[in-house]
Amino acid sequence: MSKFSCEKRGGVHYVMGSLSEGIDFSSIVNDAQSPLRLSFEDVERINSVGIRATAQMLAAIAHRDVEIINVPVPIIDMVNSLPSFFGKHASRIKSLFVPMSCSQCSVSSDLIVQRDEIKFTNRGFTTPLRRCVSCGASMRYAVMPEDYLLFIAHES
Ligand SMILES: [Zn+2]
Repeated sequence: MSKFSCEKRGGVHYVMGSLSEGIDFSSIVNDAQSPLRLSFEDVERINSVGIRATAQMLAAIAHRDVEIINVPVPIIDMVNSLPSFFGKHASRIKSLFVPMSCSQCSVSSDLIVQRDEIKFTNRGFTTPLRRCVSCGASMRYAVMPEDYLLFIAHES
């Protein structure tokens, strides 16, 4: 497990490692760039200290224009059980990982999906298709979209 780090590359702040004791988001909070772009792809785990520190950072930039990309499965799970976590920035999640498994072979992986590929209507979710990298068959969601994408339903 790697320690917390945060580095800015190509206009994106990459939050990495373990969100726990000793994390420091001052480079994000003090960055005047607009919109502020945050990637959480490389977060490995988050504990209660990390949740609190991340929530404080998000509150500190609540008035800013923020784009959140590459949100991994553990953080989506957390957002669904704690909808206030991203606050109003939840609607600014631009891309996220979705657990999928192949309908033909045994491949399963978390695949990235753009937020604007997901449509939510009163008939439920329309979600994009992905092909298996191994056999080319279509991948199925390994989670119920109605549960996993709950945070999107809360938006409207
Ligand atoms: Zn396959």
